Amino acid sequence: MFASISGPRRPSPPRAARHARRLAVLATAAVALAATGLAVAATPSSAAACNGYVGLTFDDGPTGSTNALLSVLRANNVRATMFNVGQNVQGNPSAARAQVDAGMWVANHSWNHAHMTSMSQSQMQSDLSQTNSAIQSATGVRPQLFRPPYGETNSTLQSVATSLGLRQVIWDVDSQDWNGASVSQIVSNASRLQDGQVILMHDGIQNTRDAIPQIMANLNSRGLCPGMISPSTGRAVAPDGTPPPTTPPPTGSPTTPPPGGGCTATATFPNVWGDRYNTSVTVQGASNWTVVVAVTAPQRISTTWNGTPSWDSTGYVMTMRSNGSGNTFGFTTMMNGNSSARPQIRSCTTG
Ligand SMILES: [Zn+2]
Repeated sequence: MFASISGPRRPSPPRAARHARRLAVLATAAVALAATGLAVAATPSSAAACNGYVGLTFDDGPTGSTNALLSVLRANNVRATMFNVGQNVQGNPSAARAQVDAGMWVANHSWNHAHMTSMSQSQMQSDLSQTNSAIQSATGVRPQLFRPPYGETNSTLQSVATSLGLRQVIWDVDSQDWNGASVSQIVSNASRLQDGQVILMHDGIQNTRDAIPQIMANLNSRGLCPGMISPSTGRAVAPDGTPPPTTPPPTGSPTTPPPGGGCTATATFPNVWGDRYNTSVTVQGASNWTVVVAVTAPQRISTTWNGTPSWDSTGYVMTMRSNGSGNTFGFTTMMNGNSSARPQIRSCTTG
């Protein structure tokens, strides 16, 4: 059964089939929600018929108001791309991790927002790779997109970005939020977005946060949904257009615990969406148990239920302890581009 779950990716079906599958996934999610009481937010890209996708981007974070921005985005079921500044990530890694945990894509916006076209090639290289490292160590996600500060670029910068596995993305629509635009002006600018296009906005601006509900209402009325930016084309695509996994699935059975632990834990995967999946773990042989579970980077556990979790320093290894809610616990894992890996149960011990 696990081979079928982690088997080869299906080719991308035509749009009509995608919609049918999306509706089926939604129905499954509704059943799971009723069964577990777990609040799983359906994104508008899955709830509404999408005639196309646009890329909402927020630059210059993380900032002191990143959490406020993430709250607005989540409340409006928006997934967006965050072009982060490396030194901001280094200074506030938990905010960068919060972006990923909220379902956002994280991308490279240089180390300190310099005018990069006046740099030497080696300066460009160290600037972008230092930023990639800060983002990867904070979030576990290696950026695949790069936006040069001020949109200023040249052929040297583009080739440096390419050599680091970064696709350069500028923008099609400038919200002008950096230039003091009012909420209604930002909404009006966003209303020019067409299928596949990308809009420039910023973390840390109140008017931008206030504009998001109206931007979403306008997009929804035109059948446009927030999507991810494709690293191969730089265009906005469906959020489930995740790239093929970059790390192989774990070898061996992912659900067989080492012997002698005093209890047995068995994992199943009752819900799999385009960007995340649920794992349900049932423990036999103990009512007071401790189960250690590891996920494969860049996957991240975003939500848990029916247990008390703690984490190792990497954030990829979770120790779950019974909390009186029975012998089945669960968690949601964000795929972050790796759709095939599934968690490994490392041990089940009593007490
Ligand atoms: Zn910027």
